[in-house]
Amino acid sequence: MTSTATSPLADLGIQNAQIHLNPGVDALYDSAIRRGEGVKAASGPLTVRTNKTGRSPKDRFIVEDDKTKDTVWWEGFNVPIGAQVFDNLLAKMTRYAEGKELFVQQVFAGTDPEHRIPVRMVTEMAYHSLFIRNMFVRPTEDDLRNFEAEWTVLNLPGFKADPAVDGTRTDTFILVNFSKKMIIAGGTEYAGENKKGIFGVLNYLLPERGVMPMHCSANVGEDGDVALFFGLSGTGKTTLSADPSRKLIGDDEHGWTDTGVFNFEGGCYAKVIHLNEEAEPAIYQTTRNYGTVLENVVLDASGMPDLNDGSLTENTRSAYPIDQIPNIQPGSVGGIPRNIVFLTADAFGVLPPLSRLTPEQMMYQFISGFTAKIPGTEQGVTEPTPTFSTCFGAPFMPRHPGEYARLLARKVEESGAKVWLVNTGWTGGKYGEGHRMSIKHTRALINAALSGQLDDVEFVRDPFFHLEIPTQVPGVPQEVLNPRDAWKDQAAYDETAKKLARMFRENFRRFEAGVDPKVTESMPNPDA
Ligand code: ATP
Ligand code: MN
Repeated sequence: MTSTATSPLADLGIQNAQIHLNPGVDALYDSAIRRGEGVKAASGPLTVRTNKTGRSPKDRFIVEDDKTKDTVWWEGFNVPIGAQVFDNLLAKMTRYAEGKELFVQQVFAGTDPEHRIPVRMVTEMAYHSLFIRNMFVRPTEDDLRNFEAEWTVLNLPGFKADPAVDGTRTDTFILVNFSKKMIIAGGTEYAGENKKGIFGVLNYLLPERGVMPMHCSANVGEDGDVALFFGLSGTGKTTLSADPSRKLIGDDEHGWTDTGVFNFEGGCYAKVIHLNEEAEPAIYQTTRNYGTVLENVVLDASGMPDLNDGSLTENTRSAYPIDQIPNIQPGSVGGIPRNIVFLTADAFGVLPPLSRLTPEQMMYQFISGFTAKIPGTEQGVTEPTPTFSTCFGAPFMPRHPGEYARLLARKVEESGAKVWLVNTGWTGGKYGEGHRMSIKHTRALINAALSGQLDDVEFVRDPFFHLEIPTQVPGVPQEVLNPRDAWKDQAAYDETAKKLARMFRENFRRFEAGVDPKVTESMPNPDA
């Protein structure tokens, strides 16, 4: 559709663009391939390469104004930028867009009609438009008849900022403006920015309505019991939520209302490097489906995806509509959670594969948000590197961590949900000495916890973290349960555990003043 005076983007000052409004899958394949953005893999997916292969959290800014001044927590990843910077960049982007081809998707963020936001996603790349169609909640014909977007995202990767003139950090930028209800982005082709930008918006807006926004996956068992899986990137949210015995609600972002949980999205974004067909059949199948977007996956000579090829990045991704997974919960909503799992990929091999948390430990772990980066992924990293990212998602949480923690604590108390910490990382030694937990064992541990099989089992406390560890779990060898027993050299375990306990304490210092002393008392103790 080409339009001039009646351009659906006239309010942005974009008059003469060639606009495709709500193009479908076939049209987007055609456009993406014609524009040279990607190719169709022999197995079906649209396969693309991007200039950035991960998010750019340091290039994200929030416009500081009367609305955000006192409501955003201006620390860590929440960096202020002036309204004038936003306006200038938007004006430049508008000029850049003149005469260009633009793709517009009208979609929802949120499956709950009461809390969803109608969003207009305007992109320069056709493949982004397909990604958005896959990942957001697709409107019905009826919804589209009188669709009025509340938020607009304008994402033009070909437009690069000039830091010296424009006031950005680099040529890449993602600016969020809560007063104008707009996100503008340039410089990066990584599609994940489209979804995480809006995630940050919901994370800001929902707490005002008493809804807890969460960086977690969710699924539901046969008797309707909902489980949430919080965790930083790579800890297993997507992998573990796609459990053949439970219905998937969503793999990354959810809200918790007075009546239950709802998915923010309509699709999943799975890491596919070294994906094993037997361990993860449902996700594997998506790399064989028409309609999927494969990001930075290398195709072999016959045009088939080679999931073991990490030459472009280890962060290869498959983005697909949720209904590509066989066992899903209709409507992507569920009741009040009965279990909450915090996932951590501990490369020190110290934390137990599964432990039960007290309410204070839950707050402590939620505010800490621990996982570890493994050596080899970054230049110069030879030791496992701890990462503490508050609320298991610091880059997407505009408010003070205490606000989210209090809201979660209230919800957990009201629901009586049980809370577990699961280490999907190393066991039997730290990275390089031990090995990663098997997905099979992690699933067995989680399923035992969710099904109530651990209710009558005896637990022991570990000496440094005071975590309650079950002494018996069906289907899991005894020696796997207690990390200290899994190490050959137990003195080395103690040393490493103390080191990690000290890191936890060091990280928590900046939060101590703002939390209940009982939470601080539940801290790990290296001098036990
Ligand atoms: P993101 O927030 O980036 O989407 P995520 O939390 O969804 O991250 P996954 O995409 O599920 O993380 O990644 C977990 C990775 O770890 C997968 O590649 C999976 O195959 C691998 N893995 C290995 N062992 C385990 C285990 N025991 N449990 C879960 N995942 C494991
Ligand atoms: Mn994921």
